Parts: sequence; C-alpha cells; structure tokens
Amino acid sequence: MRVAVDPLVCEANGVCVGLAPEVFDLSDDDELTILAPDVPAAEADRVRHAVRSCPKAALTLEE
Ligand code: SF4
Repeated sequence: MRVAVDPLVCEANGVCVGLAPEVFDLSDDDELTILAPDVPAAEADRVRHAVRSCPKAALTLEE
C-alpha cells in the first residue's frame, strides 16, 4: 500500500499526523512529509483512517 499527498491541496493542519504519526510528519515550516510512503502493514488501518479524515482530501492511497 502506498500513500501520497498533494502538496498544493494540503493545508498542514496536522490531522493525519495526529492519527498516524509513524507515517506522517509536519516540518517546522509546515510542510507535510510522508515518512513511510510504502505503508507498513502494521500502520495500514491508521493510514486508511487518516486518508478518510483529511479535511482537504489531500491524501491518496494505492492499495
Ligand atoms: S490531514 Fe490532510 S490537510 Fe491535514 S496535514 Fe494531513 S494531508 Fe494535509
């Protein structure tokens, strides 16, 4: 499973970081970094939840 962010849509509000901090991180200059674009199996449910919860629909999943 792979996850990606559209940086033009992401508003860096940190919702995904709160739900899956092992996979998403916000830098000091408010840019979202995906720490694990190839999502580990143990993080899959958290990442799916984060993708559904992004208020800007900036995240996409490839199963
Ligand atoms: S939840 Fe969506 S808008 Fe918020 S930081 Fe994550 S990708 Fe960006």
